[in-house]
Amino acid sequence: MKITKEWIKDNCTVKGGYTKLQLACIGIVWPPVSGWKTRAIGREITEEQRQNFENPEKLRKRADKKRQKESKRKWLKACAEQQEFYDSSEWRRLRYKVIRKYEGRCMACKRDDQPLHVDHIKPRSKYPELMLVESNLQILCEDCNLGKSNIDETDWRKSKKEYPGETLLHSPG
Ligand SMILES: [Zn+2]
Repeated sequence: MKITKEWIKDNCTVKGGYTKLQLACIGIVWPPVSGWKTRAIGREITEEQRQNFENPEKLRKRADKKRQKESKRKWLKACAEQQEFYDSSEWRRLRYKVIRKYEGRCMACKRDDQPLHVDHIKPRSKYPELMLVESNLQILCEDCNLGKSNIDETDWRKSKKEYPGETLLHSPG
């Protein structure tokens, strides 16, 4: 069909305007410059374009769904990458070395009867370059490590004099 002045007018949103997606489906770039209506009148559009323009709500939902799908895909990809890292022989070798060096006990609460995590002092998510650096690793039990999460960067070795000769990482400043 051909775009008419009335058709544009009839299909505005309840607020009286037009959504970005709605305009995009008839080829109007955002933000619309004045006179876009006049220029659009008479232009030939497909049935699909007509339906899209007439259903801004449906367009919005479709875009939301697409966005959700994309963020889920990214999340799954990150999970897979994380699993790959923890399954790698480089990590397992290093992890074992660190557990042996620090005698398999939590460096924060000192328990040795809990599942142990070899923790990245500076978290992997922020410092990927330090993920296989021995001096960035400490031992925490599961409780301490989950409490620390990836926000805190406390180096539990710093306050201790127990590991002489160890090169410790220091936070800048
Ligand atoms: Zn602990």
